[in-house]
Parts: sequence; C-alpha cells; structure tokens
Amino acid sequence: MQRRQSEPFDPEPDTLVIVKIISTGSELTKVSRKLSIEDSRPVVVMTMGALHEGHCSLIRKAATIGRPVLVSIFVNPTQFAPHEDFNDYPRDLARDCKVAEDSGADLLFTPDSDEIYPEGLKNATTTAQRLKLPDVATRPGLEDAIRPNFFSGVCLVVSRLLELTKPRHCLFGEKDYQQLLVLKDMIKDRSDRFGIIEVEGAPTIRAESGLALSSRNMHLSEEQKDHALGLRRSLEAASTCSTIEEAQVRMRQILVEHELDIDYAAIRDAETLTPPTQSNRPLRALVAARLGSVRLIDNCEITLAQSPPRADEEVAPPEE
Ligand code: AMP
Repeated sequence: MQRRQSEPFDPEPDTLVIVKIISTGSELTKVSRKLSIEDSRPVVVMTMGALHEGHCSLIRKAATIGRPVLVSIFVNPTQFAPHEDFNDYPRDLARDCKVAEDSGADLLFTPDSDEIYPEGLKNATTTAQRLKLPDVATRPGLEDAIRPNFFSGVCLVVSRLLELTKPRHCLFGEKDYQQLLVLKDMIKDRSDRFGIIEVEGAPTIRAESGLALSSRNMHLSEEQKDHALGLRRSLEAASTCSTIEEAQVRMRQILVEHELDIDYAAIRDAETLTPPTQSNRPLRALVAARLGSVRLIDNCEITLAQSPPRADEEVAPPEE
C-alpha cells in the first residue's frame, strides 16, 4: 500500500485504500461527515504513538470489522501530572505512520494540541477536572488514587476525539484495564452526545519474556527489563493462590523480590474494580509498580479456589 500524501484528499470511502494523514479537525470533520453519510463511521483506535505490537494488534482487529480504520496519534498533555513523563514520552511520528499503515490503518489523525484543546491547555485542564466521571474512575483506589487527575484527562481527550472522529466502534486494550472500564462506561453514559458506539477490549500483547508491551518499556535497560518481569510473575503466582488475601500477599512478595516499588497489587471485582464481597463474581488481579522513573502496570483475569463469602453467608471461625 503506497501513501501518496501530496494528492488532494478525496473522501470517497472506496478510495480509502490509500492511507491519509490528517492533522486538522476541519479536514477530519469533512472526512467524518462523508463517512457518516455513507454509514461508514470508522473504527477508531486511539493511541499516544510509539506504536508497538500491542497497538498493531488493536489496528489489525479493527481492520476485521469491515469499516474504515482510523488511528489517532496524540500524546495527551491533560492526562499527565506535572511530575510525570509528558516531555520524555517517546515520539516518532514518521515510524508510527508506517507501522499503523502496515497494520491496516486507512486514516491517521495526528492533531496537535490546539486542535484538541482550542481553549488552551490551562482551560482544558480546568474543564477536565470538572467532568463527571463514572464510578469506576473514582472508587477503586487503583490508578485513580495514584494518578488523581489521570482519568479526567483521559475522558476529556477521548470525548474530543470521539466528537472529531465520530466512530461506530472503538477498540481499547485490556492492558489499561481500569481505563477500558472507565471509557466503556463514559461512552455508554454519553450516547446522547456520541451516538451508539460499540466499545471492545482486546487482550494484552506481551514480549516472549511475558513482559506486557508498553511504549515506556523503551526507557528500561536490559537489567531493568528482568526486574520488570516481576509484574507478570506476581500475576501468575496470584492465580495459584486460594484466597484473595493470600494472592495479594504473594503478589507483593514477588514485586518486592524484583526490587519494584509497589503502587498497588490487588484482587478486585472484574466489573466494578472494588474489593470483592460476593462469591461467584469474575475477578481481576491488577498490579502497578515503579522501576526508577518508569511506571509499569499489568493485570489478568483470575480464578481463585476460594471466592469471598457472600454478605449473607455465615463465616465459621477458624479452628484452633
Ligand atoms: P497508549 O498509546 O499507551 O495510550 O495505548 C493506546 C491503546 O493501546 C490503549 O487502548 C492501550 O490499552 C492499548 N495497548 C497498550 N499496550 C498494549 C498491549 N501490550 N497490548 C494490547 N493493547 C495495548
């Protein structure tokens, strides 16, 4: 597939075999309008670039849906706290365009900050902090506790991207599991504004070692990558445990053994991400830890031999 950027854009859906790179909202609106009229609202995969196999798997999955695939690349300033790595976040637009195209993208949306936040960053940050977020963005005490304004920034940028790209489907990775649940809820709650959008999750893609792929892994030395395996190993160990308490203790032990600074290591209800109180609920194990200045997260579905007692069940005292 050859990209011919110099040609004028022709938004006929049947010409979408050629990848188009669009960086302004007005051009995108023109394209989106045309796509909506043709009922070809796209499948959108939102990314912050530095694309790896995890992103590619989302783009390939998007390409199976049978609609135009739009990939956005935008490092969103409103989801980073001042002490976080916004300035150091890896950026390589030329490479990303090629990778996205090779994975099956039809359109690339690469806006700059003024396109997404015409009101300026300061005002956008205020707007983000005023957004009403779904419970799963505020109650679990996981990413929400460690990165207090993170989901406000994520919800604002995703809202702006939805308004501009008008998708019929959106794909997000399970790698960012709390984010996936937050966005599913937000998009459902705001269907009056965004229309009906199918939101799908996609499994986490890992290196052969088991390390979950992340754009931030490129900041890790080979030695640090060995330490980072502690996240995956802690999840594997949790799945051999019988109770939630045992699993949480074991996860922490393994993270410490790998010299990781723990943000959290928790077993949660897979739908609400609150501490499980009922039996027979699907569970999720989630970990977040830091290695020097690099913060890593991972999670997996988990089944424990012994689920928590139901609230109405009497628990026998342990035998002496
Ligand atoms: P990011 O560029 O980190 O904002 O991620 C863009 C999308 O790719 C999000 O939906 C992520 O959850 C997803 N993603 C990131 N890493 C992976 C991975 N290792 N496997 C699958 N999806 C991923």
